[in-house]
Amino acid sequence: MPDFYSEAKKLFAYSQAIRRDLHQHPELGFQEVRTSGIIAKELREIGLEVTTGIAKTGVIAMIDGAKPGPVIMLRFDIDALPISEQTGADYASQNPGLMHACGHDGHVAIGLTVARLLNEHRDQLSGTVKLVFQPAEEGAGGAETMVKEGALESPAPVRCLGLHIWNEKPLGWLGVAAGPVMASAATFSVTLTGKGGHGAMPHQTIDPVVAAAQIISAAQTISSRNTDPQKACVISFCSIHAGDAFNVIPQAMEMKGTIRAFEPEVEQMAYKRLDEIVRGIGAAMGCQVEISITNITPAVINDPQTTSAVKQAAQTLLPDHDLDERGRFTMGAEDFAYYQQKVPGTFFFVGSTNAEKGLIYGHHHPKFDFDEGVLPRAAALMAGAAVELLKS
Ligand SMILES: [Zn+2]
Ligand SMILES: [Zn+2]
Repeated sequence: MPDFYSEAKKLFAYSQAIRRDLHQHPELGFQEVRTSGIIAKELREIGLEVTTGIAKTGVIAMIDGAKPGPVIMLRFDIDALPISEQTGADYASQNPGLMHACGHDGHVAIGLTVARLLNEHRDQLSGTVKLVFQPAEEGAGGAETMVKEGALESPAPVRCLGLHIWNEKPLGWLGVAAGPVMASAATFSVTLTGKGGHGAMPHQTIDPVVAAAQIISAAQTISSRNTDPQKACVISFCSIHAGDAFNVIPQAMEMKGTIRAFEPEVEQMAYKRLDEIVRGIGAAMGCQVEISITNITPAVINDPQTTSAVKQAAQTLLPDHDLDERGRFTMGAEDFAYYQQKVPGTFFFVGSTNAEKGLIYGHHHPKFDFDEGVLPRAAALMAGAAVELLKS
């Protein structure tokens, strides 16, 4: 195994320059035209065969080793968020209302650094590394579109790897675990239709607000009474709308929210119970009920064999780091799960906060920023894990 960490540290100025440039020019999902142009240019500059325009702004490049062997896919997401940056950094966003607040600017820099690390050692590689730069991870369906447009074909990878810079943990922490590591995500939408009327004469109305209040309370029992206490389930009502005036009972009430779980059986149970509670209470309160529940992302469930390769690389390249193998790292979701449904793979996390430098804000916060020391660590671990997988 080449000493990828030392080599990545020598490339730090390159990684940082890419990251800071992208940070200043964030682009939303499927609109990452400038970003994907830079990715393609950088990959072509080191002599790689590059395909652009997959899922609009996706980029794929191949690193062919000197000897034949398996195809391993490495995926990096590239999109930003509709958030106004408040970091005050001298490399802050120059696009008003847009920000790299999840760290995907770092992911691109890591991916391009990994390309350089592996390309330098292609004589020693047996097999092919397929680099996939994916648009629109933030809820717009980037991974699904990449899969539909052939990202997993010609050549088809036998294993896939993905990573996230992780501002829930400090620099030096590594999250590498088999089994579930991120939750599935579903959206739900409920409309309760009653009968509007005067706020002083509720007996002449059917009040959807009172029905909604009982539904919201009863739904809390799905996680507290229906879910195995050793497992996890989240149901959050995040948007509630009804009425305009203080003295009018509204005709209808709309609610939206999200359901998160690790196990498919918990997820299905939560869908069923929410449907029953909404329909049952809504009907008992005299309302007409409409409910729809839609899964938007499966859970991220890591393959044990692929995870062993990442762990092996972590122990070889970053032996003094804090390796956390507990799994179930967050109820957040990741569309990397779509690749894992077709190809066994592992998604791992690289800690990136630094309290001394004030880099403590979480993902999607307007003051989100990370310790750039994560860049060589993450690049080394990704390159090392790819080499481990090609060996096995
Ligand atoms: Zn995000
Ligand atoms: Zn993200």
